[in-house]
Amino acid sequence: MTLDSAPPTARLMDGTGPARRIVAESAAAADRITRLTGTAPCLATVLVGEDPASVTYVRMKRARCAKAGIRSVHVALPASVTTRRLVAAVEELSRDPAVHGILLQHPVGAGIDERAAFEAIAPEKDVDGVTARSFAAAGLGLPGFASCTPGGIMRLLDEYGVEPAGKHAVVVGRSPILGRPVGMLLLGRDATVTYCHSRTVDLASRVREADVLVAAVGKPRFLRGEDVKPGAVVIDAGYNPGNVGDVDFESAARRASLITPVPGGVGPMTIAVLLEQTVRAAARQLGVPEAVSG
Ligand code: NAP
Repeated sequence: MTLDSAPPTARLMDGTGPARRIVAESAAAADRITRLTGTAPCLATVLVGEDPASVTYVRMKRARCAKAGIRSVHVALPASVTTRRLVAAVEELSRDPAVHGILLQHPVGAGIDERAAFEAIAPEKDVDGVTARSFAAAGLGLPGFASCTPGGIMRLLDEYGVEPAGKHAVVVGRSPILGRPVGMLLLGRDATVTYCHSRTVDLASRVREADVLVAAVGKPRFLRGEDVKPGAVVIDAGYNPGNVGDVDFESAARRASLITPVPGGVGPMTIAVLLEQTVRAAARQLGVPEAVSG
């Protein structure tokens, strides 16, 4: 039987259900904080330019916040903004006691020092987990805010009973907000981790070794079913135009034991973790203990 004619073996790792639960818990915690302190948790979103995908992501995140009782304030800056002006805007939000979390939508555009802008986020408000300090905390297993997509991926693995310990996890992609931190979180859970990237030689062979495969490349249907190890757990973090992931879903689902759909897999978990971390940041800053676990 060829791969094309084989039936799908994989169970879907739906992210919408678990995400809904996390959002509901966050909404309950936000309500408790608001009742106890008279102040609603607040996320500040910062958007540079008008890239349609980024505009949509920010709008979606703010809409989810509103539904969960989290206030949001929005700072829109032109694509022509300088690094200095962007850093100043982020610093102002970092100082503002009415703001508990800051999300600087990535990417900020060519010519701007994105790292400098990320580092202007106060550590206690880094609910998107993008600062060097949050990255180090994830790497060293210290308390801190996880980068949201990697954090969402780990929650999804837990949700479906996938124990990373002892497994060979192959992460394709090494970006600072996704590939690198998810590999570190998997390592922290005792997986044996291989990173692949654009300079990896014989990528297919590396991918074929994966018990847990994380696709974080940004290329539609880049990873094919024939390279998926039978029984592997496939996490597709990619989100490309046309709602297409980085994995060829049809062929990969014929080999994998578990696979995330796109959309409806990693995406909803990312937003849920953002909301959860915003509420947790607000609780800490407003002195409300144990508002959200997780
Ligand atoms: P990125 O910054 O562009 O990084 C892409 C990574 O893929 C890089 O490390 C790059 O390697 C690697 N790569 C590129 N071409 C490759 C090739 N031919 N073979 C192997 N590796 C290759 O992208 P990102 O921000 O991490 O995003 C990745 C994907 O995840 C995108 O589809 C994005 O939309 C999606 N995403 C989804 C969410 C969500 O909430 N679901 C959140 C964030 C991102 P080098 O380092 O060598 O250049």
